[in-house]
Amino acid sequence: MKKEEVKDEKPSVDKIVYNFHLNEDEEKKLLEAKVKILQEQLRLLKSPPLILAEVKEKINDEEAVVKLENGNQFLVKINLGVGKLEAGDSVFLEQKNLSIVRKTKSKKSFNVEQFVIIEKPDISWKKVGGLDEQIKEIKEVIELPLKKPELFKRVGIQPPKGILLYGPPGTGKTLMAKAVAASTNSTFIEIVASELVQKFIGEGAKLVKELFKLAREKAPSIIFIDELDALAARRIDVGTSGEREVQRTFMQLLAEIDGFKPLSKVKIIGCTNRIDILDPAILRPGRLDRLIEVPLPNEEGRLEILKIHTNKMNLKKVNLKKISKMTKDFSGAELKSVCTEAGYFAIRENREYITEEDFKKAIKKVKKTIEEDESYKAMFG
Ligand code: ATP
Repeated sequence: MKKEEVKDEKPSVDKIVYNFHLNEDEEKKLLEAKVKILQEQLRLLKSPPLILAEVKEKINDEEAVVKLENGNQFLVKINLGVGKLEAGDSVFLEQKNLSIVRKTKSKKSFNVEQFVIIEKPDISWKKVGGLDEQIKEIKEVIELPLKKPELFKRVGIQPPKGILLYGPPGTGKTLMAKAVAASTNSTFIEIVASELVQKFIGEGAKLVKELFKLAREKAPSIIFIDELDALAARRIDVGTSGEREVQRTFMQLLAEIDGFKPLSKVKIIGCTNRIDILDPAILRPGRLDRLIEVPLPNEEGRLEILKIHTNKMNLKKVNLKKISKMTKDFSGAELKSVCTEAGYFAIRENREYITEEDFKKAIKKVKKTIEEDESYKAMFG
């Protein structure tokens, strides 16, 4: 019978199989390996957990001020072999005397890049339909100052630091924000305020701070805050700790906006479906003081949007004007769905071209979904 191989490195208890044909030497080796593993397991069981902290300030090579998760700060010793430390590093502390035992891998204790979407969009203005007025205004207040700041210096005016896009869902607000990022070759940094409020209890204000720091590092950049109302809603009472936390995050946002210059290479675009509940503080001069309404498209706008989304579709005798008349009160996103659904109706019938009938069926289907969504919202909010 073949004997079991005994490897010295990385032995594991599971792999140690007793074999009655082992000679004395081999058996000894096996037992030693097993003892080694058990000793290691025992050591791990006995060792106390280490405490995670952040270096606030390095005093000298032997001492540093650290801050624990609960906010308490201590002056502690740095153990030998910890390596180079700087403020912001995450470190592990020994439980009894809180000396720094080792550094964790991440340089910053809080890596904002994990929580935001960062991209360089390539959406052209041509992809936005029916919003000529809004595009003109965005170009004036965001694009021009980023592209030609010297013009504003010469004329002696200060452009807004940011804008607020408001209107019903799916009307192209995000699309325009991405298009302006593309046209100015800016980094697009997106954060959804409702997520920020729900997920980062206790960390919201820090996240906002890091967000602006990141935007400055990646400038020119556009910070896009979706569902701004979740963070910047008017609050009548800030009684609970959750509300106080949201308030703190909001205050940090205002402080960050106030802290940078109008002609810096960072712009903010806020976005909301609920302008009626916004705290006026965010709309004060010098903050997001340019409000741009993005309404549902009219008939002409719908036609433009349909043209954009059918651009690559194989249409056969489809009168898009007629389709645009039939889709009153549809948003841009819903018009896009109509086009996709029409394509599916063709595919289901094994056709490679799309007819007007496909569009009619698609409109019916999308309408039904909208009505179902509305009745769901009416019932469950
Ligand atoms: P929300 O308020 O829900 O965030 P939004 O206004 O930001 O919505 P978008 O995300 O820009 O809406 O739109 C969703 C999709 O719908 C877009 O990616 C695009 O495909 C299509 N769309 C919406 N509006 C337009 C438009 N005006 N022109 C072309 N496509 C549009």
